Amino acid sequence: MNSTASIHFVFALLLLATAARLTGAELRVSTDFEGGAARVESVDQAARVIRFMPGGDPQRGWPCWWYLRVDGVAKDERVTLDLAGSDRPTRNNGQDTGKPLAASWAMPGRATFSTEGKTWQHTAPGKKEGARILYEVTGTGGPLWVAWGPPFTPRDTDALLAEAEKLSPAAKSFELAQTLGGRPVRGLRVSAANAPKPPGIWVHARQHAWESGSCWVARGFTEWLVSDDADAKWLRANAEVFIVPIMDVDNAATGNGGKEAAPRDHNRDWDDKPVYPEVAAAQLQLRALARENRLDVFLDLHNPGPGDLKPFFFTGPPELLAEAGRVNRTNFLATAQARITGPLALDPKPRVTGPAYHPLWKQISGQWVNANGNPHTVSICLETSWNTPHSTTDGYRAVGRQLGQAVAGFQRGKSTPR
Ligand SMILES: [Zn+2]
Repeated sequence: MNSTASIHFVFALLLLATAARLTGAELRVSTDFEGGAARVESVDQAARVIRFMPGGDPQRGWPCWWYLRVDGVAKDERVTLDLAGSDRPTRNNGQDTGKPLAASWAMPGRATFSTEGKTWQHTAPGKKEGARILYEVTGTGGPLWVAWGPPFTPRDTDALLAEAEKLSPAAKSFELAQTLGGRPVRGLRVSAANAPKPPGIWVHARQHAWESGSCWVARGFTEWLVSDDADAKWLRANAEVFIVPIMDVDNAATGNGGKEAAPRDHNRDWDDKPVYPEVAAAQLQLRALARENRLDVFLDLHNPGPGDLKPFFFTGPPELLAEAGRVNRTNFLATAQARITGPLALDPKPRVTGPAYHPLWKQISGQWVNANGNPHTVSICLETSWNTPHSTTDGYRAVGRQLGQAVAGFQRGKSTPR
């Protein structure tokens, strides 16, 4: 090789190296981590397209959740995540339907991604192509995590509880139960009340494991409750608050959808013989509060359907409530309306759960609490929209903070303590 040839050779090597850097290395997709779920159909290395479906076993809930890690994306390289709805038959109303779930449940307008697995942001709007949707993400040279919405796993519960305990001496974590899968269901008790037996407030999220946004609402509520905000201080001093950020820990940890799982949907398990130990344990605690006539507020946090673009409350039929409960619920809804003002503003019209909503509606947690609580108890479900530009960690946390302010405002506004 003469010197000109060797210069050419080196130049060719440099070109190759540059090309390799621009297109990145081999794309690798993995889901073997807490909450991970996806069924990869194909990876087109040349076109840099990952075709996939949500993961999860339909017998363990609606297969609409997906959360994957992509390695091999170069800095500034764009890759396409090309998503189809799950083609596996799903369950509904407690039975196998023989048909797949509508793909829209799995297809937010914007997907969520992270470059370090901790802070989450929206992608640009996905592009619908036939029955599929295409999201683009840009690499940083390291791994990328991409998901249906901001993930929240048992590890995030641990971090949230530890942080709350650090910030407030009134906060103390507890273990509600061990799941059927042997995992701890953890929660936080927050109270600085001097009076014995203060009003009890119970907040839990994620009875449906795919609804990760509900956990971020619970996180916003928790962060507010242990903060220096005057209303938060007042609530800590005048109530005993229990928060369980993830109820269905098993399905949240394994990346299953949870909703309509066999043998029972977690939120249709609220009767005298619950299948899930965490439901039985929550019932025990709620019954104990009711026995002392201090079950004031029960909040069950969810995410609704893809077309529900405003957060809204689900309530039970008013005719089943005692007079005190009806008055309190009206007051609570008015207070929440004044506080949950955006960026995810509350829809002023609550929806009423009843036989038309679901054949097993009486076994929904909110109804169980209405039936087993006190006459004055407010038992309500908040559905926070997941398919809007504000359905981000910050948007969800704002709803949680405002919900906390609504609870404080409502409790403060009671003319008599109960
Ligand atoms: Zn739900």
